Amino acid sequence: MSFAALGLSEPLVRACADTGYTTPTPIQTEAIPTVLSGVDLLAGAQTGTGKTAGFVLPILERLIANPLPAPTTRTDSRGKVQTAARPLRALILTPTRELAAQVEASVRVYGKHVKLKSVAVYGGVGFGPQAAALRAGVDILVATPGRLLDHVQQRTVDFSKVEIFVLDEADRMLDMGFIHDIKRVMALMPASNNGVRRQNLLFSATFSDDIKTLADKLLDHPKTIQIAARNSTVEVIAQKVHPVDRDKKRALLTHLIKEHNWSQVLVFARTKHGANRLAEQLDGDGISAMAFHGNKSQGARTAALTKFKANKLQVLVATDIAARGIDIDQLPFVVNYELPNVAEDYIHRIGRTGRAGATGEAISLVCVDEGGLLRDIERLIKRSLPKEVVMGFEVDPRIRAEPILRGGAQGRGAPSRGGPGQAPRSTGFAKPRGEGFAAKKSFGNSPRPSTGGKPAAHGGAGRPAAARRPRPAGSSAFSGSGNR
Ligand code: AMP
Repeated sequence: MSFAALGLSEPLVRACADTGYTTPTPIQTEAIPTVLSGVDLLAGAQTGTGKTAGFVLPILERLIANPLPAPTTRTDSRGKVQTAARPLRALILTPTRELAAQVEASVRVYGKHVKLKSVAVYGGVGFGPQAAALRAGVDILVATPGRLLDHVQQRTVDFSKVEIFVLDEADRMLDMGFIHDIKRVMALMPASNNGVRRQNLLFSATFSDDIKTLADKLLDHPKTIQIAARNSTVEVIAQKVHPVDRDKKRALLTHLIKEHNWSQVLVFARTKHGANRLAEQLDGDGISAMAFHGNKSQGARTAALTKFKANKLQVLVATDIAARGIDIDQLPFVVNYELPNVAEDYIHRIGRTGRAGATGEAISLVCVDEGGLLRDIERLIKRSLPKEVVMGFEVDPRIRAEPILRGGAQGRGAPSRGGPGQAPRSTGFAKPRGEGFAAKKSFGNSPRPSTGGKPAAHGGAGRPAAARRPRPAGSSAFSGSGNR
């Protein structure tokens, strides 16, 4: 199957070829013709499957296939001819700034041979340049909910002509407390324009009852596509568990990194505080490490990621929600320093490696407290993970399991709670506060030091390269976030 056979026109097929894509991924094979047909779409697919191109390409196709009439002009009081700004035609909502920047970069790369303008708006960077770009007219807007609603309030954005609306990573958006913002955005868009119904696309890795309710509200007779999580079907990721005592995890991690001379290790910690502490400790052990989470300023996040991507930082210690935006080509190692409380997050975490066909290794350091979490994960991925004790780090059978408290601190007597959408479980694991609503505030609304620059408009050239995350030339996906 080729991109052309899916119904995409030559400039888009050429952009795919420029990016190094030869064959559409399964989500692309299913989603592209569906979106082109104009029906609503409910897609179960996660990052790493190629879902971004799965919706960006057909959106571009639909917009170029139905060009707007030439913009109206008027002569102002000073006799100057004013051309009406192009109306916003497609709106894509994403949960995090990094993802917004990444998706918009994809729009520019896939749309590099067509004349459509895109902008990303999100918090943490200057409002004014975004407002100016919006006023100048944009065809495709990629936004995080908080900053988008700031623009609504300032009347810098007009949804009245939106033809296509995309909710990307809807499950994450709900986890992050964006439901009210999403509803507000939905209420601001007309259901149809000139008799043509708005097309709505919802992408989510998981389908909780809340997602189903949202889908019922948003979508009209949608086509449903379910793409198996890449990592549960494609055996490109070698997964293993190292059983270890709770207080020997750090020593084991240091040992593994040094012993195998690992570089570019993405380590997942359960809490922001835990991520900070671990990064400091690793640094103390002579391993360059930085933390990456929602309490870090956008500038600090961008700096850490840039160093990590450039291979100048051995370890990036991330929390789940912050890690959502990380897309690094061929990241070789992912380490679960602590298992996630929600089993689906395990699949998402390990999906950071082995991307786009590359091989990768995912290692979990599991202590006695995490037995229940490991069982949940194994049930979800429908297989038992190989356990391998590292010499010198044998498990002490006398150590008893302790409940995992909110915030990740160890202790006793925590109430037992499951992850979102799950029934309470009896393992004694409590869901930490993590980066839920707090993250929404810090991602979307809190003032951050602006890294300057202006919102990027459409027009960057893609780098011709082997198949990988497309980025505009001269910038990484995340230098983009610093510029916008
Ligand atoms: P996504 O799931 O959209 O985050 O994409 C995951 C990665 O797959 C990105 O690095 C994309 O550049 C890459 N990708 C997307 N589509 C293809 C394709 N058809 N062939 C090869 N790589 C792709």
